[in-house]
Amino acid sequence: MSGSGFLEDSFLSHSENFKRTLLSVNDGVYMTDRERRIVFWNPASERITGYTAVEVLGRKCSDNILSHVDMNGHSLCDTRLCPLYQTMEKGVPGESPVVVRARRSDGTRVAAEVSVAPLFGDDGVVIGGVEVFRDITEKQKLAEIKSRFLSGVTHELKNPLTIMQGFIELVLSGDTGEINQLQREFLDSAREEGDRFKRILDDLLDFARYEATEYSYNLRGIDLSSMLLQVAGSCSAEASRKKIAVNTNIPGGIFIFGDGDRLHQAFANLMGNALKYTEKGSVGITAGTSDGHAVVVVRDTGIGIPVEDQGRIFDQFYRVGNDLTLKVGGTGIGLSIVKKIIDRHGGEIGVRSRPGAGSEFTVTLPLKA
Ligand code: ADP
Repeated sequence: MSGSGFLEDSFLSHSENFKRTLLSVNDGVYMTDRERRIVFWNPASERITGYTAVEVLGRKCSDNILSHVDMNGHSLCDTRLCPLYQTMEKGVPGESPVVVRARRSDGTRVAAEVSVAPLFGDDGVVIGGVEVFRDITEKQKLAEIKSRFLSGVTHELKNPLTIMQGFIELVLSGDTGEINQLQREFLDSAREEGDRFKRILDDLLDFARYEATEYSYNLRGIDLSSMLLQVAGSCSAEASRKKIAVNTNIPGGIFIFGDGDRLHQAFANLMGNALKYTEKGSVGITAGTSDGHAVVVVRDTGIGIPVEDQGRIFDQFYRVGNDLTLKVGGTGIGLSIVKKIIDRHGGEIGVRSRPGAGSEFTVTLPLKA
């Protein structure tokens, strides 16, 4: 008999066993019906929130029980960002845990990491949802310390690098006297390596910035159109240095609900990559709406991404292992952050690309209700 057969026969088929397990696990576990009314509440939920099962069964989880808010107190319950709402709407488990502040019975808030999945009836229709949540107060404190350290060290490294690059530029400009061709070549190489190093430090800073605020999303209505124009504008200096055109097609009036700084970070990252991996041609950003969603496409005519790598580029630290990519500095952190940010907004990101022809990243985000 196979291992899973054994489990099915003697354990999984007995719902009492299931129930006992859920009642004894250390994480808060609760289940709701389709209207988000609580139908199951385990003792860990009681311990973390202070609410007993008797007090909550039959009530909506948003009814002052868990009422998740972001770190600035904006409620997620009545928006499409409610993790349970999303999982029941999509009929698939949440991709990564979401961090929220959940309400305790005494009115205080606890930082909680929340994972969700839909519950299906026998006919395959979604009949409710399950949420597992964990108190992450300690983890949050450690993450803040780590991120402060990382950004401190990165800034310390960046300052002398900026000064060194300034001196290299000065000598190259000829202001300090004539230099011969060989000296120019050496200094050009030093400048390029400095640029590579700076890009890596920028990635680390981005990472530290993300980690520092992973637990503090600040959600509100956002003018996505203006933000994307700003992102495109901030690429113009680097684009003109590389003699690459920046195309935009961004109609006004696209509004979403989310964290403006985070989304800016995500789109700046996609445009940054487009520029970084393109030597000639153009990069571009277009936006539109479709089926209740904003659709943003970031395109380039750069080196492209081999098909076999396309499924992995959103993994942390993954970089395509060919010469063309390795020549360009990077850490493999950027796209993993982009994906986390888009996931957290209930959106999706995908890539289409052909080596030598360019890449196209498509992001969809729910429009503001
Ligand atoms: P980094 O650029 O620092 O290596 P990212 O996480 O931003 O890390 O990207 C992961 C990998 O995906 C990159 O190393 C590169 O191989 C590939 N990639 C990302 N964007 C592009 C792009 N626009 N064109 C070609 N390759 C890309």
